[in-house]
Amino acid sequence: MIPHPGNVFVVSAPSGAGKSTLVQRLMARVPDLVFSISTTTRKPRPGEVDGRDYFFVDDPAFDALVAEGGFLEWVQVYAHRYGTGRAWLEGQLATGRDVLLDIETTGARNLRQAIPDAHMIFILPPSAAELEQRLRGRGKDSDEQVAIRLQHARHEMEQFEAYDYLVVNDDLEAASIRLAGILHAVRARRERMAARARSILAGF
Ligand code: 5GP
Repeated sequence: MIPHPGNVFVVSAPSGAGKSTLVQRLMARVPDLVFSISTTTRKPRPGEVDGRDYFFVDDPAFDALVAEGGFLEWVQVYAHRYGTGRAWLEGQLATGRDVLLDIETTGARNLRQAIPDAHMIFILPPSAAELEQRLRGRGKDSDEQVAIRLQHARHEMEQFEAYDYLVVNDDLEAASIRLAGILHAVRARRERMAARARSILAGF
């Protein structure tokens, strides 16, 4: 188990549920939260920056990291691989800061082994029909690809029982507020606030 004075938040969702947008809003909205930068073999999308969104590497570099045990968890999603760098995450956690990981369900399950008290948050689309409409609306995928994504989404949705918090993304702003609320509630827990409360008490 990895020691971590701060909180660890894991966010997963089926593709098309709006997770990336929600996570971006969360990072902008909640102070003192570090985004866990994963390593991936996929190519950067327009606007993505190496070292901010991901560490982008080629296949041999990823293989080398796997061989040296450099990943806390890693998975293959479609044609690409994604992994949480062990040293990077441990370094962040050691500072006592809260860290947020945006990873898929298999990785989240594996991460739970290393960090049993991670706060696991799952984002759901409001319905299967709405998810299908969103996937088609993006205009990125063929009918066949949409069908594959929906099947994959269904498989991911079945994992919701492994999570502690569920957020239905029916309305972006409302879901965003609920998501931030989860983080604030965790931060307000007694064990986290006890030292501060004691120091306030000491002033009386
Ligand atoms: P995308 O290519 O759209 O950025 O990400 C595809 C999927 O990979 C998303 O569900 C994302 O959460 C997941 N992912 C990104 N980084 C990691 C990681 O380090 N580990 C795991 N298990 N999943 C990841």
